Amino acid sequence: MIHIHQNLEEIRSELIRTAESCGRPPEDVRLVAVSKTYPTEAVMTAYAAGQRMFGENRVQELETKVSALPNDIEWHLIGHLQSNKVGKAVVLAQWIHAVDSIALIERIDRLAGDNGTRPKILIEVNISGEQSKEGIASSEVETLIDAAIKCKHLELKGFMTMAPFDAEDAELHAVFGGLRRLRDAMAAKFGIALPELSMGMSGDYHIAIAEGATMVRIGTAIFGVREG
Ligand SMILES: *Cc1c(COP(=O)(O)O)cnc(C)c1O
Repeated sequence: MIHIHQNLEEIRSELIRTAESCGRPPEDVRLVAVSKTYPTEAVMTAYAAGQRMFGENRVQELETKVSALPNDIEWHLIGHLQSNKVGKAVVLAQWIHAVDSIALIERIDRLAGDNGTRPKILIEVNISGEQSKEGIASSEVETLIDAAIKCKHLELKGFMTMAPFDAEDAELHAVFGGLRRLRDAMAAKFGIALPELSMGMSGDYHIAIAEGATMVRIGTAIFGVREG
């Protein structure tokens, strides 16, 4: 038996405690409850406990949940987005976290325009440089920002990253701190606000918060271990 309500309460207290221990205002760290693979009933339990931001990594699953769940949920698409799914994504998700190419930015802009939406996007950066990781290299970030700030039908809000699966604390600090420094440099260079840093999952969110995360994406610690 998974106690979603209790897990959520514990995570919330832990987010507040962690933010305060880093001298950050707790409201600057928001929780995206990652509900991928869990049934709509699990989302509803978290919803009943007051949770309103949820993350999904597949458009099809997102579609099923959006149609079954209350419409004041803010949906975050956190997985890699294929170009043939963009049309649905811009209608279903208010946030798209893993934007990783100019082509994708331009397609989101065009299809959001067609559908009368304006999603908030985050550019996914592969800070660690790990080959297997998704996201663009730090050196490519400027060209994507250039493309995004020309778009009318999307809003660039910041960056997202994933740490290597088995990283030790020092590497987690380097990755998450690296994303924050990149953000600071880009915000200064372009003269724009890039307020959001989506980083930190169940196993590494304490360090992500210490390094400036504004959105943590937590699944397992709320809903339990995923099957399959
Ligand atoms: C699944 C997933 C998460 C949540 O991971 P947990 O370890 O279950 O907290 C966060 N971010 C992304 C991109 C994911 O795919």
